[in-house]
Amino acid sequence: MTKPIRIVGGGLSGLTLGIGLRLRGIPTTIFEAGGYPRHRVCGEFISGRGLASLDRLGLLPGIVDQGARSLTTSSFFSPGNPPIRNPLPQTALGISRFALDDWLGQEFQRLGGDLRTGERWHEDFSDGIVRASGRRAEAKSDGWRWFGLKVHVTDLPLTADLEMHLLPSGYVGLVRLADGQVNVCGLFRSATAIPDLARRWREWLFGSPGSELQSRLAQARVQEESFCTVAGLSLSPRLARDHPEMCVGDALTMIPPLTGNGMSMAFESAELALAPLERFCHGDWSWPQAQREIADASDATFRRRLRWARWVQSAQFCAPARATLLWLVAQSQPVWRGLFAQTR
Ligand SMILES: Cc1cc2nc3c(=O)[nH]c(=O)nc-3n(C[C@H](O)[C@H](O)[C@H](O)COP(=O)(O)OP(=O)(O)OC[C@H]3O[C@@H](n4cnc5c(N)ncnc54)[C@H](O)[C@@H]3O)c2cc1C
Repeated sequence: MTKPIRIVGGGLSGLTLGIGLRLRGIPTTIFEAGGYPRHRVCGEFISGRGLASLDRLGLLPGIVDQGARSLTTSSFFSPGNPPIRNPLPQTALGISRFALDDWLGQEFQRLGGDLRTGERWHEDFSDGIVRASGRRAEAKSDGWRWFGLKVHVTDLPLTADLEMHLLPSGYVGLVRLADGQVNVCGLFRSATAIPDLARRWREWLFGSPGSELQSRLAQARVQEESFCTVAGLSLSPRLARDHPEMCVGDALTMIPPLTGNGMSMAFESAELALAPLERFCHGDWSWPQAQREIADASDATFRRRLRWARWVQSAQFCAPARATLLWLVAQSQPVWRGLFAQTR
């Protein structure tokens, strides 16, 4: 008899894993504390090897049908530096998480998966249970309190499909989505308490007076219902083999959002888990054996990328390093392409 799998968390990693398992005929239940559709703090820029994972799982055409846009150009803005425009070395996709997570949930159910929304998992993680519950909340990481903000706007002409605005306190991405919508999403850090975001979020997300970002967003129409926040982010890389449970996605480790690779890692880590889980379900491997295989494969796949992403993220918060990096990227296409490739 095929053993069933239970997945805690119905975000991108949990749903992708659930779909992959259902495609292999494995009985799968996902426990999701929230529901669908809903807005998530995310730049909604999908780039990297995760696109190939989606393709192998047969999900790419459906995602395109949900309104994913192909993104091919970028511009970077930083105070005191001229804007840098570059083609994206690899075509990326822009899609609202409101649509994406909802569609993946429907797809999982269409394939016979049992999706339990509004059910928060409180029990222990025993054999056959995978943790896909997203980031682990930490008040401080590297001595800072990190938080993210996201809102959709319309009526915002962009200079490129992805605009990245590098600021002293963080960074804000503008990403072209379907139907004239633009994702405005930022990651910020504060040395003291998290500010009152419900009242002051525009001061952070829309840039300081006189900034390029603020002048760009001045005429935009804000879709208030799409606004969301997240805090307690930990951006220190973690190894899969150090986790007591089997983990996928952000539950495994978070990559700094500057790279736009977190969703890709969610898809990739889900795909990496499929074959070992299948062997467990068919009784060929024990749970510890499957868990070790998945952890080793995850660490081998993500270690280098996480190291580079951490370095790029640190450079962003150090003005001389940021200026040097931007200068190099502006001068040399191979440097830009190399840096892009290393974080994917
Ligand atoms: C500011 C910011 C910008 C970002 N921008 C980008 C970007 O542009 N491109 C990119 O690729 N990535 C980006 N990311 C990262 C990306 O959003 C994540 O990597 C991705 O969402 C991870 O998916 P996940 O399924 O692992 O976790 P999540 O999407 O967080 O899903 C976890 C799910 O588990 C559920 N859950 C948690 N605990 C329980 C429980 N006990 N029981 C049941 N359910 C539970 C939650 O409700 C949630 O739905 C960004 C992140 C931040 C913070």
